[in-house]
Amino acid sequence: MKELFKVIGFIFIIYIILFQESLGCPKVTSLKFEPEPPVPVGKQVKMTVDGIDTAGYEDIKLESWSVDGTKLEVTWIGMGTTATYTFTNTGEKKISIQLSGEDKDKDGKRDMREPYETTIVVYKVAKVTGSPVVIQKDGEKNITVTAILEPECEGLVEWQRKRDNGRWEPVEGVGKTVTLLSTEDVGKYKYRARPKGSNKDEDWVESEHLYIVDLKIITTGGETSAIMVEGEAGIQFQVLGIPPSLNPLKYEWSYKIPDDAVPGTAASCIFSQQAKTTIATGRWYADPASKHGWRECNRYARYILKCKVTFTDNEIKAKEAVLQVDCDPRDGVAGSTTVDIFGDPDIRRESDKMWHVVGKGNLRRDIYSVVFLVGVFYTKILVHEDKHVDQFTGRPGVEYDLSAICTVDKFYNRIINLIADTKKKLLELIESERISYRAEEWRKIDTVRMENEAYRASDKISPQYYWQKNWPVQ
Ligand SMILES: [Zn+2]
Repeated sequence: MKELFKVIGFIFIIYIILFQESLGCPKVTSLKFEPEPPVPVGKQVKMTVDGIDTAGYEDIKLESWSVDGTKLEVTWIGMGTTATYTFTNTGEKKISIQLSGEDKDKDGKRDMREPYETTIVVYKVAKVTGSPVVIQKDGEKNITVTAILEPECEGLVEWQRKRDNGRWEPVEGVGKTVTLLSTEDVGKYKYRARPKGSNKDEDWVESEHLYIVDLKIITTGGETSAIMVEGEAGIQFQVLGIPPSLNPLKYEWSYKIPDDAVPGTAASCIFSQQAKTTIATGRWYADPASKHGWRECNRYARYILKCKVTFTDNEIKAKEAVLQVDCDPRDGVAGSTTVDIFGDPDIRRESDKMWHVVGKGNLRRDIYSVVFLVGVFYTKILVHEDKHVDQFTGRPGVEYDLSAICTVDKFYNRIINLIADTKKKLLELIESERISYRAEEWRKIDTVRMENEAYRASDKISPQYYWQKNWPVQ
């Protein structure tokens, strides 16, 4: 019998332990918050009892309701009991609710054990940052604006922004980041954020200025292209579009010329690495992509000017400008060689009262040769023009002898019978004949043959033109 009591007593103790564990004690099991956490600092939060377990107990009393260590005055009505509290600082806040009740099975003994505890996060916007701070209009990068919350949590954020001296405008989105797209207008932007639902002006936190710029390279005259002559100096380019409040760390000027530029014609544009740069010397080069005719090259050497502007957290490539260096200010003629009759014959008024040609006077045949081009192709063109001089002179060894073109004797024979009643009229007739004689003589020249011989001489001279690399000389 004693053994039996022992067994029953043991079972009873187990039962009590288990029963009390399962019943616990009268307890709040769930709280509802409004607004839902995380909640903005300074915001009044309404807490409502949303779940309660009082099974086995009666005469339930609220022993304490504390928030963040502060005890609240709350009237207990069971389910639906509410309390309000305004959090004045950020962090993870502890809410503790303790109930007591009379155990129906224990003759009115009050039970009060461990309280219901939960936490909510109270946050603020601590900082608003944009990255990068400056971007190029319509460029690849956008600015990401981020609200840093304290403490780090999933709190919602209200956004506004303004441009230049405009008004604050709402920005869509309640997340911790918003994006300033490069497709937006050029300007100086500012963003601000506060916890969503805060409604207090002092909760706004502003970003630093964020910029959409439109950097481009222009001349002092405002143009995006310029022409200078080989060997010339002084054309100035500058980067336009840097707001005065931004101070770039550095400027890196460079230029691009076609990849397969003719060997030996290295371009040289010297830059100073500042906002403004002056081209120290314009250098013409043979344009490999020249679409100009056979055995010619473009008189304009084209440079694409670039400038990379480095800001604290971004590099922006300014829109490019074009510099063209003209090899030759004289209408694209690199060199020329001509032969012509110069001077005047002797004329006299004869007994018939008319003016006649009476002698060769100072008529002479002159070969006039000039090389206009300066720079790397000078010698090449000089050799070419010299070959034409040889042809017109009829020097020994020349293949195409043009010494019979435009001779004084032949010209004299054409004018010897000209007469006029005034000196002026006779001189006009002679001049007119000089022009037509010259034209007739030049029509006799096989220019292909003449040029081929000259090119065979000059083609050997470095540097080579683009066509020489791609269509070797026959
Ligand atoms: Zn020629």
